[in-house]
Amino acid sequence: MALLKQGSKGNDVKKLQTDLNKSKATPKLTVDGIFGPLTEAAVKDFQKKNRPLKVDGKAGPNTLAELKAKLTGPVAPKKMNYTLKTKRMDFELTGATQKIWVRQYWSYVFKTKGKVSKWTSKEKSDFHKETEKIIRKAWGGKFILEVSGTSDFAKYFAGKIFTVLFDVDPRKKGKHWTAKIVKIPKGSSLVSNVVWSKQEINLDTEDLQPADKGAGGGVKMDVAAHEFGHAIGQPDEYKSTSSHKHHKKSIMNRGNEVKKRHAKHLVEELNKMIPDTTFSVKSVK
Ligand SMILES: [Zn+2]
Repeated sequence: MALLKQGSKGNDVKKLQTDLNKSKATPKLTVDGIFGPLTEAAVKDFQKKNRPLKVDGKAGPNTLAELKAKLTGPVAPKKMNYTLKTKRMDFELTGATQKIWVRQYWSYVFKTKGKVSKWTSKEKSDFHKETEKIIRKAWGGKFILEVSGTSDFAKYFAGKIFTVLFDVDPRKKGKHWTAKIVKIPKGSSLVSNVVWSKQEINLDTEDLQPADKGAGGGVKMDVAAHEFGHAIGQPDEYKSTSSHKHHKKSIMNRGNEVKKRHAKHLVEELNKMIPDTTFSVKSVK
């Protein structure tokens, strides 16, 4: 198509005027096929709003392509859903809902220590339900991710957000973690931890009670939620060597607050999922 400029006439100009009107040209152009001063002003206005287009009032290939792209919108990528399996968790991304599920399979081992009754199957299933509830409340929907890159996926989702959700399923087959749960007498305590290298989560029945760990202000920490932070790759922050030791209310310290930095491992893994696509944490809810 020839360069359209003041003095051009014909159907191409009509099409240009129609498209400029669709892209909200003000004042609205008369579609007469004659490229006059008003059409030129509308072209300039469009170019100004869509830098790096050159603002010359002439509609060449770049301006026409940009106008077409603006009117049709970005094309949906062919592949909208992705999964990624890793050693300690799986990822499932659904483009249509803009959600990313982080799923872990825990193989439970139930033990007892001290004067307590044997585990009943209801207690076991209640423990799992309660633990998952605590994890979801602490971590679910907190990380808001954005995406950049040169892939069709990244371009389509530019400026949009993804929400990260968490799921823990009791399952022996394909387990990511062995969850050793010790039933202990009420009010007693046992050290809970996560051994990253062994893919082992150690919890006890008292971990489902919020505990004052010294965050201050009466803040009580959900221990199971803190330990889950380790299972998604986060280090302790209360240690003297941690640069976040003063953020006592952080969930990886002594409190419950989730910070952007806590998505570090998740984002590193996610960035292996889709070629030429980079996720980053936009905000924390
Ligand atoms: Zn810890």
